[in-house]
Amino acid sequence: MSKPLIIDTHVHTFPNEEVGKQILEGIKEQTSVPYYCYGTIEELRTNMQECGISKSVMVNFAPVNWTKGNNFWTCAVAKETDDLVPFISPHPRMKGRKPVDEIKHKLPWGAKGLKFHPEAQEFYPHDKKMLPIYEFCQEKNLPIVFHSGKNIDSDGHFCEPQLFTEVLTEFPKLTIVLAHLGSGFWDQTKKLVNEFSNVFFDTAIAISGIYDRDEKTRENYLSNEEAADLIETIGADRIMFGSDFPWVNPAWDIQRLQQLPINEKDKINILGKNAVRIYNL
Ligand SMILES: [Zn+2]
Repeated sequence: MSKPLIIDTHVHTFPNEEVGKQILEGIKEQTSVPYYCYGTIEELRTNMQECGISKSVMVNFAPVNWTKGNNFWTCAVAKETDDLVPFISPHPRMKGRKPVDEIKHKLPWGAKGLKFHPEAQEFYPHDKKMLPIYEFCQEKNLPIVFHSGKNIDSDGHFCEPQLFTEVLTEFPKLTIVLAHLGSGFWDQTKKLVNEFSNVFFDTAIAISGIYDRDEKTRENYLSNEEAADLIETIGADRIMFGSDFPWVNPAWDIQRLQQLPINEKDKINILGKNAVRIYNL
């Protein structure tokens, strides 16, 4: 059998080893979450080659005062390449430029979608500051991926899956992707799928967790049977493979997905084909 198309829809990258190390070490110190590498573009490309990944979607976001710089770097580093796909994060409280103007500014630079982390950026999905962003993205057919569910050391109260109900209702043509399959809130994820056809998911961290993490966080990990059941309930055509590189090596989750008791067609869709359709790649 020929090798399947593999697209990693959830990676984070940093401009150089020093910056990556500072951020990753800071998080590790606070939360004891380990990381796989420093998240440089060179490391990512080496890993993609080893894993047979054709494209990686960079879902970079930064503190509010570094919004424009981070978005600019993410687009610039991906410009004129086929293997890197830039998603930007116009912080809802960014200064000096409205979020919608920031999106308009970055479209010519190649931005293909948006990423938000309601937990880290401290806003609820239906915050009124977000509404012009949703309206613009719906009109321009730009997908938005949100962190959803529990985060490293927080309960996920800003972004439980059910908190997206209003947005999904008011913007029925907006493509919304909930990262991590709703991390820990599996019943809410299943409910949303039933009610809305414009909600999709990525698998980042959700199925295998972060390797070598301490035992107390392992309750989030899914067994093969639990993962297969969740995929079947959601529908494999609505789920995309994502790793959360550089916290984990994408190879681990590719292997895990390939071993799950689901059919081959579903594996091929999750590993790459769905991303082509959902993210217009
Ligand atoms: Zn992530």
